[in-house]
Order: sequence, then structure tokens, then C-alpha cells
Amino acid sequence: MIKTPLLTTLVVNTPSGPVPGRPTIRDVPSEDSPSQDAPHSEAGRMGGMSRREPAGCPCGLPAPYRDCCGRFHRGEGAAPTAELLMRSRFAAFSVGDEAYLLRTWHPATRPASVGLDRKVRWVRLEVLETARGTVLHTDGTVRFRAHYVERGREGTMEEHSRFVRLDGRWVYEGALGPAAL
Ligand SMILES: [Zn+2]
Repeated sequence: MIKTPLLTTLVVNTPSGPVPGRPTIRDVPSEDSPSQDAPHSEAGRMGGMSRREPAGCPCGLPAPYRDCCGRFHRGEGAAPTAELLMRSRFAAFSVGDEAYLLRTWHPATRPASVGLDRKVRWVRLEVLETARGTVLHTDGTVRFRAHYVERGREGTMEEHSRFVRLDGRWVYEGALGPAAL
């Protein structure tokens, strides 16, 4: 069983019961090699050919992945707020970018590996509440609900995450209390 705090922790639990797959889950990018192949930015323009092109970024923002969280995953910039870091980490789960998840994890709480479960597809994120975490702060929290599909079944998990700024960059520190489904 997976024991990492963010997102993967509760996958093993049965959340709200099986729900018939909805068309929206097909909007999720299913790239086989996300971060490494990201630099050729024209790849995203090829939507409609062999692979499905989502309307926006997996994090839920309207910009295309390559212009949104893809920039952070490629190391072309750092998320300026705790919420954007949280979104970019969800997007990293969605595209399978473990390296990004690890380097945006506080060293004190970072696991040796994330152990991404390929059977789980992270399909949608809802940011429910944010506190502090702006460009003016050095800490902040984000409460979110993440939607996933595992073996054709939809589920959700919620977490209230704490983020801190370390050497100028936001990192994920951990969850505040037990997550509630
Ligand atoms: Zn994004």
C-alpha cells in the first residue's frame, strides 16, 4: 500500500463508491513520457491527431498544459504561490512527473519516491480554500479535492496541505491533520 502523504495516500480507500465513467475523464492527457518530452512545445499543437488534447491544463486552469504547469515541470519557472504549486503538483501526478513531485517536496518530509500508481489517473482538481501562500508570504495552506479514476471507478480525496517557501521556492510540507473523504 502506498503511504506517501499527498494524493496517493487515500487511493486505496473506497471513496464515494463506483460511479459510471463520465465523458469528462477522457479529457485527461495520457502522455507516456510527460516531462522529458515536454521541451518541444509544438507537441501540444498536434492535438486532434493521435492523442486527445485537453481544453486546459490538468490542474484545472484554462491555459494549455505546456504554458501552465508544464513550464514549472520543465524547470522554466517556479510556481509563485502555494496554490499554483499545489496545482502544478496535481498536474505532475496527472502526467506522471515524479521528479517534479520530489523536488517540490520539503526535504524534511520528502519520501524516497512517490510510487506513482499507473492504475490511477488523476483527472480533475478542485481548490476549495486557500490561506496565505501568496507572493508576500512564506507559508500557506491549500485545501483541495482531487478526482481520480482507478480501474474505471471514479473517486475523490481531499487534503488540507501546508506549503512553505524554502530558498524562495514553494514546497509541499505535508497534510494538516487526517484527510477527509
Ligand atoms: Zn496548470
